[in-house]
Amino acid sequence: MTIATASPDRLVGHFCGAPLSGAPARTLPLSSPIDGSKLGELAVADAEQVDLIVQKAHAAFQSWGRTPVKDRVQPLYRFKALVEIHLQRLAEMVSKENGKLVAEAAAGIERGLEVVEYACALPALIAGDLLEVSNGVDCYTRRYPLGVVAGITPFNFPAMVPMWMFPMAIACGNTFVLKPSEQAPQTPLLLAELLAEAGLPEGVFNVVQGDRETVEATLEHPLIRACAFVGSTPVAKIVFDRGTASGKRMLTLGGAKNHVVILPDADPDLVARNLTASATGCAGQRCMAASVALGVGRCDEVVAAIAAEMGKIRAGQDMGAIINPRSRERIANYIGQAKEEGAALVLDGRNPAVPEEKRGGYYIGPTLIDHLSPASKCAQEEIFGPVLSVLRVESLDEALAIENRSPYGNAASIYTSSGAAGRYFEQHASAGMIGINIGVPVPRDPFSFGGWNDSKFGIGDVTGKDAISFWTQTKKTTVKWSATAARNWMT
Ligand code: NAD
Repeated sequence: MTIATASPDRLVGHFCGAPLSGAPARTLPLSSPIDGSKLGELAVADAEQVDLIVQKAHAAFQSWGRTPVKDRVQPLYRFKALVEIHLQRLAEMVSKENGKLVAEAAAGIERGLEVVEYACALPALIAGDLLEVSNGVDCYTRRYPLGVVAGITPFNFPAMVPMWMFPMAIACGNTFVLKPSEQAPQTPLLLAELLAEAGLPEGVFNVVQGDRETVEATLEHPLIRACAFVGSTPVAKIVFDRGTASGKRMLTLGGAKNHVVILPDADPDLVARNLTASATGCAGQRCMAASVALGVGRCDEVVAAIAAEMGKIRAGQDMGAIINPRSRERIANYIGQAKEEGAALVLDGRNPAVPEEKRGGYYIGPTLIDHLSPASKCAQEEIFGPVLSVLRVESLDEALAIENRSPYGNAASIYTSSGAAGRYFEQHASAGMIGINIGVPVPRDPFSFGGWNDSKFGIGDVTGKDAISFWTQTKKTTVKWSATAARNWMT
C-alpha cells in the first residue's frame, strides 16, 4: 500500500482511480479519539464533485456490467489475500481513526472478509432458473446488475460495514460509490488501494468523502440506481425517504437498543462474561451491543457476577475510546440522568482513569446501572456507549413485553438452559437477530444481517442471500425454438 496516512497536514480526499481536479470547497478536521491528536483534514465533496465521481463509475459500468461473473470475482479473490497480508496495518488505521482496540478492529475486518468470501462464490450462487413451462416453451431468469450503486456508512466499523456492501455489489456487476463516515474516512482509502492492487478496473470502486451535503448530492444523483445505508435511525429514515423519493432502490439500517433476558436457570458465569464482552466491546459502539439486561426473578447473584467482570475492564487499555467529545458527553448525561431517577450506579464510568499518553482522548469506563425503571430514557433510547442497564422483572412475558415495546428491533438475546424457553423467546421477541446463549448474535454469511422495526427501513437484509436480490434485477425470458411445439395461449 502506498497511500500516506495520518499526518497532521494531510488532506484526505476521494478515490476514483485518478485525483479529482480542483481544491475542495470545504474541509473538516480529523482527530484520533485515542488521544485527540490531529490526523489531517477531510475534503468534503459538493454536488459537482459527486457528479464527477459518479460519471467515472458510470463509464466503468459499461464494460464491468458486461464482464462475466466468473471474471468479476477474480479481483475479489486477490483482494481477500491482500487484506489478509495487510490486516495489521488496516486494523491500526481503524484503531487510530475510530478509537477501538487494534484486536477489535482486526476482528471486524475479518468479519468483512467473510462477505468477500461469499461474493467470490457468486458464480455458484447466481445461476438462474430454467423450466419448460409449456410443450417446447422454456422460461429462464438471468440476474443483471443495476448500474452505479452507492453505500453510505457509519463511523463504528470503517472497514467492515463498507465490506458488507461493496463485495456483493461489485461481484453482481455494479460499480460502487462509497460515502464513508466523515469521522473515519481513511480506512476506506486503504481498501480502495488494495482493490486497485488486486486488479479491479478503474472506476468500479470509488470513494467520495464528505458529510450530509455529500449524502444529499449522492441521493439526488440520477445515475445512482440503488443505495445501502448504515447509521443512526433518524438519519436512516431521512436517507430512505429521500432516496426512494428520487426513485432509488433503498435499504437503510438504523440504530439499536438490544435487550438480553436472563432467566433464573442461566449460567451466571457465562452471562457475566458474555454480557461484559457485548456491552463493552468497541466501547459499546456496536449496533449489536447488549444495552438492557432483563433479569427475571431473583438475579442478585448474576448482577454481582456481571459487576465483577465489567469491573476488570480498564478504559484506554482493555477498552477503546468514544468517537468524539460530543458522544462522550451524551453518554455521561444518560448515566447522570439514571442516577437522578434513583437507579443504582453499580459501576460509574464517567471519570475513568486512563494512561497518561491517552489523557487527550475521549473515554467512558464500563458502566453498570441496576434497578433502572423501564420508563427511563436510559432504558429506552440508544446510548451507544459501554453502559449496561439492568431491569428487574417477574417473568419472561414481562421481559418480552418490555422488549416488544422498544421502537428498535435489531437484536435480542436470552440466557437459559431451557430449550422451550429459548424457542418461546425466539418466537415472541420483536427483533431481526436473535441470540440464545449468545451475547452478540451476528448472523454470518450465507445468513443475512438486518433488524426489524426502526432498526431497518426497506425490504431484505444487507449481507448473505438477500444481497444478491438487492444488488441485481432479474430478466425473465420465454423462448420457443420448436416449430412443432403445442399451440396454446402462449403461441
Ligand atoms: P450517523 O447516522 O450519524 O451517520 C451515518 C452516515 O450518515 C455517515 O456517513 C454520515 O456522514 C451520514 N449522515 C449523518 N447525518 C446525516 C444527515 N442529516 N443527512 C444525510 N446523511 C447524514 O451514524 P454514526 O454516528 O456514524 O454511527 C452510529 C450509528 O450507526 C448508531 O446509531 C448505530 O446503531 C448505527 N449502526 C447500525 C448498524 C446496523 O447494522 N443496524 C451497524 C452499525 C452502526
